[in-house]
Amino acid sequence: MSENMNVEAIFASKVFTVGKMKERLPKNVYKEVKQVMDRGGELSLETADVVAKAMKDWAVENGATHYTHWFQPLTGITAEKHDAFVTHPDAEGHMIMEFSGKELIKGEPDASSFPSGGLRATFEARGYTVWDITSPAFLKEDATGVILCIPTAFCSYKGEALDKKTPLLRSMEAISTQALRIVRLFGDTQATKVVPSVGAEQEYFLVDRDKYLQREDLIFAGRTLFGAPAPKGQEMDDHYFGTIRERVGSYMKDLNIELWKLGVTAKTQHNEAAPAQHELAPIYETANIAVDHNQLVMETMKKVASRHNLHCLLHEKPFAGVNGSGKHDNWSLCTDAGVNLLDPGDTPNANIQFLLVLACIMKAVDTHADLLRQSASDVGNDHRLGANEAPPAIISIFLGEQLEDVVKQLVETGEASHLIDGGKLETGVSTLTDLDKDATDRNRTSPFAFTGNKFEFRSVGSSDSIGSPNTTLNAIVAEAFCEAADVLEQADDFDMAVHDLIKEYMTKHQRIIFNGNGYSEEWVKEAERRGLPNLKSMVDATSTLTTEKSIRLFEKFGIFTKAELESREEILYETYTKTINIEASTMIDMMKKQILPAVFKYTKSLADTVIAVREAGADASVQADILHQISEKLADAKGELAALEEKTARGKKVFHDLQNGINKDAQLKTQKDLAFYYKDAVHVDMDNLRVAVDALEVLVDRDVWPMPTYAELLFEV
Ligand code: ADP
Ligand code: MG
Repeated sequence: MSENMNVEAIFASKVFTVGKMKERLPKNVYKEVKQVMDRGGELSLETADVVAKAMKDWAVENGATHYTHWFQPLTGITAEKHDAFVTHPDAEGHMIMEFSGKELIKGEPDASSFPSGGLRATFEARGYTVWDITSPAFLKEDATGVILCIPTAFCSYKGEALDKKTPLLRSMEAISTQALRIVRLFGDTQATKVVPSVGAEQEYFLVDRDKYLQREDLIFAGRTLFGAPAPKGQEMDDHYFGTIRERVGSYMKDLNIELWKLGVTAKTQHNEAAPAQHELAPIYETANIAVDHNQLVMETMKKVASRHNLHCLLHEKPFAGVNGSGKHDNWSLCTDAGVNLLDPGDTPNANIQFLLVLACIMKAVDTHADLLRQSASDVGNDHRLGANEAPPAIISIFLGEQLEDVVKQLVETGEASHLIDGGKLETGVSTLTDLDKDATDRNRTSPFAFTGNKFEFRSVGSSDSIGSPNTTLNAIVAEAFCEAADVLEQADDFDMAVHDLIKEYMTKHQRIIFNGNGYSEEWVKEAERRGLPNLKSMVDATSTLTTEKSIRLFEKFGIFTKAELESREEILYETYTKTINIEASTMIDMMKKQILPAVFKYTKSLADTVIAVREAGADASVQADILHQISEKLADAKGELAALEEKTARGKKVFHDLQNGINKDAQLKTQKDLAFYYKDAVHVDMDNLRVAVDALEVLVDRDVWPMPTYAELLFEV
């Protein structure tokens, strides 16, 4: 890329944008497509043929040879199977590249190897991918060549969702319908839909690729399973917003270019709190496009890293002792006329529509705090939520001083007559402007914070899809809107009814508001007193999917059927078990193949030294003492290894036997039992083994330690 980069020219150059459709499609076809994009409905096959041809022509002009239906199965990442545009040659051997409407709209990947939680087994082995016309097609370029990617939903023969996109799209329709009822009550006749907007801030770590390749734990688990702390951590706060190092800077520059080409509005970049940790934030956009784009961001981060001989770690907790990574999911609701329902305006206390929306969100989050917590859980995120790290596992809402006071007035008197003034931020320097203070001051410990004109859901894990969190948010708020609209549409006196309803909701659900320190022990006790759920781990949260309350919610709005929820629950337990099993197996392997041999070698050389020094008639007590210490720690580590091996072997057997219907384990009878076993037994032994090995690492010569240390991984990028 030249020095004078033309960002406007490269932006979305790899995207089949609405603009390109307008240019390339006959007017009537374009109109039909646009209609379906905006209002829903189906394209006729003839129209789809025309669109497919235009899309293919554009792709081929840009070097594409293949197309793929790009989808998001329940693995949490994306999937693709490439097909060339190649067709049968004619009698003379000429071949014409083709792509039909049918191929654009529907695909049938042989998808029997994707997680389905038993859904497909009972119905039909095949999965179908269906074009999501609302998310633009794009070109992916890598060593395979240029591939036309068509964003699709993935479902079973009977239409059960097997992915993250289908329920999200369903939830977007639900919240649009219900939010429209609310805005109509306030006299908005313009809006034809209400769209959730999402902006996901993405945190990540970068490590040197050569060092990464020397760590089996990073390769197989995406996080370090061993590692004594470096002499320096993040205690100096010198990395956060610090000057970006050259190598990282050139990575970020490349990353931005790749993302801009894909139409991703990469906007903000900075160093994060932990050494080697960084963040990228795009500008917010429609939820389903934001979900797709976040997948592209994660994928592109990894791809570009390898070009710089770096490796990008998206795991929630790659390193013990320094901050982990999350993904702040910023969420708001906008009408298609551009009105943000979460914009309080200058006088939120007098903005009745805003107060009703706020009351509904309070109700939604309080009623379904368990589901919201669940939606942000993945295996890696257990190291953040509920551990000693950013946001706690307890869901609460932070409103800021001003709004909290408005809620308080409404609850106490039914009126919010005044507004706490944000006031001026006085710098005390005559040449600096005094600023209006932000009335929604930040509370970084809150999992769900109101930040001006949006909520920021901070619990989501860095490696996770933002599909589930947004599906859940849309669903729970749709339910609250629906219940409010049911009451208000029937009211004789609307003003009175809305006033009463806001007061009722805020009074009933004020326990969900918390403005204090979310990390404190007092909050854990206070939350318990308030009756707020504290689901410490992913497996604790999983069964919230299939409570009566959850099934009622999701079935009412056609987002999930009971069977779909049950299948997701099953998949989550299995995913947990498999992930911890891989981690445990990796530890065992590293112990046997690398760590033990290295320590044996070192103790042998120490022992030789002791003998040689003694033979030479000198005092070898220091060497002997260290040898003694190491031998002791070695015995500890070996003991922990044996325990872990035994527990893991049992887990593996049960998993295998459950899959084959021959399980006879007396305690571990289900996938749920097994997941809890991996959490409460296997994971505990992993932690013990790590402690023993980290104690060894500190005593052993760096030259024989068989892998790069924390100091080298975190500070030598
Ligand atoms: P922070 O101080 O938390 O970094 P920013 O103002 O930088 O907050 O915004 C963070 C993210 O929130 C960005 O992705 C931004 O586009 C997004 N965002 C801003 N306004 C909205 C909105 N109305 N709805 C959804 N996301 C939004
Ligand atoms: Mg933020």
